[in-house]
Amino acid sequence: MASNKKLLFLPGDGIGPEVMGEVRRVIDWMDKRRAVTFDVEERLVGGAAIDAEGAPVSDATVDRAMAADAVLLGAVGGPKWDEVPFELKPERGLLRLRKDMELFANLRPALCFDALVEASSLKAEVVSGLDIMIVRELTGGVYFGEPRGIETLPDGTRRGVNTQVYTTPEIQRVARVAFDLAKKRQNRVCSVEKSNVMESGLLWREEVTKLHAAEYPEVEFSHMLADNCAMQLVRAPKQFDVIVTDNLFGDMLSDAAAMATGSLGMLPSASLGAADASGRIPALYEPVHGSAPDIAGQGKANPLATLLSFAMMLRYSFDLAEDADLIEKGVEDVLAAGHRTGDIAGPGSTLVSTSQMGDALLAALESRAA
Ligand code: NAD
Repeated sequence: MASNKKLLFLPGDGIGPEVMGEVRRVIDWMDKRRAVTFDVEERLVGGAAIDAEGAPVSDATVDRAMAADAVLLGAVGGPKWDEVPFELKPERGLLRLRKDMELFANLRPALCFDALVEASSLKAEVVSGLDIMIVRELTGGVYFGEPRGIETLPDGTRRGVNTQVYTTPEIQRVARVAFDLAKKRQNRVCSVEKSNVMESGLLWREEVTKLHAAEYPEVEFSHMLADNCAMQLVRAPKQFDVIVTDNLFGDMLSDAAAMATGSLGMLPSASLGAADASGRIPALYEPVHGSAPDIAGQGKANPLATLLSFAMMLRYSFDLAEDADLIEKGVEDVLAAGHRTGDIAGPGSTLVSTSQMGDALLAALESRAA
């Protein structure tokens, strides 16, 4: 049964267009071989939008992003726009999209492919088979709380202030995302805060506990203090399934967990908002890496983080778990066969270009779907 999904593609700058090109090829393949089709509209973001439209994201593009079923973004930024005023920086385009789409839940999986176990900074037995998901609250907490600022005191010394603040609805909506995700995974959620020293952490703990009891009693649930969680992520990360935490702790814990997987070129992400009246959830998918100006235009970029972001889109925006599995298994196949872009190259592997990695994935998809 065919269905038409409306996608907005924002390739952006640097390696963005190169890695997004490989997703296009997978979409063309899916159009022919799978029971789903996509309407893809492409627009500008970041430096490319500054050059052509005078702003890092135009109002029209924001409107199209809000109307799409899901958005896939490549990367923004580069030395060409280093000197533009702060409000016009390429990164502002991405921040505006996140803000206008009210994307409050950031999903960062840390998945270790067997073939890349050696690339991890942790021991093979610690990361082999690792598959965890960190859900970070993205629009609240200490990065946004008021009062904030730096003031000069009467004695001439200075004082810097940021405020960690969360409300019941802010905590509940991100916790719901985590519980719903867990039900599609191993059914376990660990909520992380510092309730021993922070009132906002205590509130977080109480609200997530209440929500669990009221709406998700079937999900296995635990709490952990953020400092302990940092230790556990490098000691025994496989004990986790879904971790839900605030903006500040999530920022750090998701980067720490990412290192278990080896390379920036392998890391996907998703940011989700609240369902509208029709049940549609605004969603932006993007690789964690930036525009990599040092290798842009040379066919050296690893497209797998973006392809895995697309797989997340299939799973979380469209409930197409089988198609998402197919792409993830296809990635496993190409890695197991020794295909490597420069960022993940190792002894005995075959160095491939961006498009050769795409060729290898398409061949793997074809043989798995046969
Ligand atoms: P970066 O992620 O672009 O690159 C860091 C290093 O990793 C570079 O050596 C790069 O070549 C390598 N790398 C990154 N992605 C790769 C891939 N897919 N395949 C192979 N190698 C890869 O970070 P940076 O150098 O700090 O930033 C470059 C530009 O990107 C800056 O303008 C920055 O502001 C921007 N940036 C954008 C985003 C985003 O769009 N979400 C995120 C981070 C940085």
